Amino acid sequence: MPSTTPPAPLLPNFVEGRWQTGTGPGLPLFDPVLGTELARVSSAGLNLPAAFAFAREQGGRALRALSYRERAALLGAVVDVLQARKDDYYAIATANSGTVTRDSAVDIDGGIFTLSTYARQGERLGDARCLRDGDRIRMGKDPLFQSQHILTPTPGVALFINAFNFPSWGLWEKAAPALLSGVPVIVKPATATAWLTQRMVQDVVDAGVLPPGALSVVCGSSAGLMDCLQPFDVVSFTGSADTARIIRSHPAVAERSVRCNIEADSLNSALLDPAATEGSEAFGLLVKEVVREMTVKSGQKCTAIRRIFVPRELFDATAQAIGAQLARVTVGNPRHGSVRMGSLVSREQADNVRAGLAQLKTEAGVLFDGSSVPLVDADPAVAACVAPTLLGCTEPSRADVLHRVEVFGPVATLMAYDDEAQALELIARGEGSLVCSVYSADPAFVARAALALAPLHGRVHAVSPDVASLHTGHGNVMPQSLHGGPGRAGGGEELGGLRALGFYHRRSAVQASTAALDALDALATSGHAFQP
Ligand code: NAP
Repeated sequence: MPSTTPPAPLLPNFVEGRWQTGTGPGLPLFDPVLGTELARVSSAGLNLPAAFAFAREQGGRALRALSYRERAALLGAVVDVLQARKDDYYAIATANSGTVTRDSAVDIDGGIFTLSTYARQGERLGDARCLRDGDRIRMGKDPLFQSQHILTPTPGVALFINAFNFPSWGLWEKAAPALLSGVPVIVKPATATAWLTQRMVQDVVDAGVLPPGALSVVCGSSAGLMDCLQPFDVVSFTGSADTARIIRSHPAVAERSVRCNIEADSLNSALLDPAATEGSEAFGLLVKEVVREMTVKSGQKCTAIRRIFVPRELFDATAQAIGAQLARVTVGNPRHGSVRMGSLVSREQADNVRAGLAQLKTEAGVLFDGSSVPLVDADPAVAACVAPTLLGCTEPSRADVLHRVEVFGPVATLMAYDDEAQALELIARGEGSLVCSVYSADPAFVARAALALAPLHGRVHAVSPDVASLHTGHGNVMPQSLHGGPGRAGGGEELGGLRALGFYHRRSAVQASTAALDALDALATSGHAFQP
């Protein structure tokens, strides 16, 4: 019998300063555990050029009329709005992302923490209207004519095209530096989990804490968004390498020089010191971190450990230790108190993970497979739950797929290496990753590895016994530290404290007399400057 359940309501978009519902049936969003339809999204029928013009002209002008300190206060106000409604966000995350509370926190509290960090850092920038980059530089023998590099907010809009795994953090980690810079934001969340992004924007808009046009949300199809970008706009994309290729080759980027930041997929590594032993603290720390990385958000973290490199003689012991801890991970309905790992975001993602796993298995054996244990309170025919799997390969230098295919789920591959040089060479086969963690009690080894790994990674995270209870976690992206990575990781850079503001500013050199540069300094801090 055909279902008589009516389609769920369409979530409205917020563009041109008003809520607008898209036309047509829209795309459905599901509860990935229960299989029920939760909401629909549609961007059909929106006047996107008008939406971008409104954000650029009204939002941008209003934001740039403020100082950094005043914009930092706006971020603080957004934090207050979101803090007050956190319970709603956790309920949405459980329903739409299938995450247990601890994993929802990574997204929700992680986003709010990032916003508050930028609110604090922005406050320190004071009443300036632009940023100085370095000191004045003499241009010749006579010191009267000098060059001053300055950073001014780009007079455009920031378009964010985001991935499904961080509907909250993915918005706020980008919006915080953009808004602090004075650049209005249009966010297009990934369809599968768009509800949380849409609700957060709705709460912030309804609270009236941001100027009109500062924050817009378009849910549903991405069609037409890139076409609206103009030369002073920027686009920040997070998602798969395939879509990244489309973004990079779009005329907006290729012809109109729209600045583009790409965060794509990544085969992040963990490296155990060759001198480690089975009973050493470094060994235990690696095992703990690998298990955490495989299971937090069911492995749907761009930074998650995918490849684990250990000395050959510790291969079996590491497999046993990781397997023993994975065996204690209960998988199923995140609403059930005993469940430690919820579901993936959709059945489609679960299918993708199984297909990726099959590819990896052509070059690796199975060391641990949690799939024989029944799911807790979830129907395997409906729920997008995938149990953790640890694969292993003792000859990784002969492998190809293992260094190339990212499986975006609770899957990692243990690999044996023979010496330090070989381990570093194998890590480099990932062709550029977001993060590599190093586990060692030897500062000299950490320093050597960090220097060798830094050019291939956005972040090197060293875990030694003295920081065992202090370190922030391999996969946790802290706003103070850089996020992004070279090569296949996309080549982007985000966060890193105030470094993130660089993406939303233009750097220019002003070459002038000392008197003119003095006048520029005065204008830049007077509250009247730089309103294009
Ligand atoms: P995806 O399929 O590339 O989608 C990402 C975003 O792009 C979504 O909003 C999607 O919209 C949109 N999109 C799809 N086709 C588009 C097009 N032709 N033009 C413009 N936008 C388009 O990626 P995903 O599967 O959601 O994300 C998983 C991947 O993201 C993983 O590989 C992961 O490693 C990576 N990731 C990286 C980071 C990082 O910081 N480096 C963080 C998180 C995830 P729809 O959803 O509506 O299709």
